[in-house]
Amino acid sequence: MMQKTVIEVSHLYKDYQTAAGPFPVLKDVNLRIESGDYVAIMGPSGSGKSTFMNILGCLDKPTKGQYVLDGHAVATMEENDVAGVRNKTIGFVFQGFNLLARSSLLDNVALPLVYSGIEKSERHARAKVLLEKVGLAKHIHSRPNQISGGQQQRVAIARALVNKPSLILADEPTGNLDSVTSEEIMALFGQLNQEGITIVLVTHETDIAEHAKRQVRFLDGKIVQDTRTHASQVLDSEIMP
Ligand code: ADP
Ligand code: MG
Repeated sequence: MMQKTVIEVSHLYKDYQTAAGPFPVLKDVNLRIESGDYVAIMGPSGSGKSTFMNILGCLDKPTKGQYVLDGHAVATMEENDVAGVRNKTIGFVFQGFNLLARSSLLDNVALPLVYSGIEKSERHARAKVLLEKVGLAKHIHSRPNQISGGQQQRVAIARALVNKPSLILADEPTGNLDSVTSEEIMALFGQLNQEGITIVLVTHETDIAEHAKRQVRFLDGKIVQDTRTHASQVLDSEIMP
C-alpha cells in the first residue's frame, strides 16, 4: 500500500527581514516525509533548524517555495484555514515544556480542548487518560513545579496528544534534560511512533538522533545529508540504491 505523504516541502526559502535588509536563513530546502516516519533534524546552532520547524508547524511562513501539509498547500492558505489544519494535524513539544505554572497537570493537558468546544468533564476525562499513558496518573492534580523536568516534558507530550494529532513536532525536546531522563522521553516518542504517529524532532545530539529512523542534517540553511538508520514501514525511494 502507498504511504501517505504528511510533509512535502519544495524549493523552500526563508529570509528574515532585518534593519540591514533580508537575511537568508533557509535556502532551497526540499524534504518529503511519509506517514509513520520518525525523523531527526540535526545540524549546528544557527543552521536554520528552528526556522524550519516553525514553518513545518505553520507558526511562520516561507519567503518562497511550497509546503504541503497533509494535502493542504498551507504556504498560500488563509491564516484561519491554516490554524484549522494545524490544530487538527500537529502536536507541539518544546525544549522548555511551556506548561502553565498555576494550572494542574490535568488542566494543562486539557487546555487545547477548550478551543475545540468540548465540555469540561470530557476534557478532564481525556486528559486523565493521556496522563495515565505517560505514567503520571498519580500526579494529575499537581502543579508543574511539583514534578521533575522529565515529568514536565511527559505532561507536555500528553498535551500534544490531546487533539489526536497525526504528526508531532518537537524542537530539542530533551535539550533541558539529563541523559537518563532524555532516554525515557525518547522511549516514549518511540512508543508513539510505533502507534503510528509521525514524529519530527530537532536535536544536536547524535545519540538522541539515533532513536529516529531517519536523520536529516542542516548546514547553513540547506539539507546536506539525509540518511536512514532504521527500516521504516515506508517504502521510500530515497533509500533505494
Ligand atoms: P537553529 O535552530 O539551527 O539554531 P535558527 O533557525 O534558530 O537556527 O536560526 C537560524 C539563523 O536565523 C540564525 O543566524 C539566527 O540568528 C537567525 N534568526 C532566527 N530567528 C530570527 C529572527 N526572528 N530575525 C532575524 N534572524 C533570525
Ligand atoms: Mg533552534
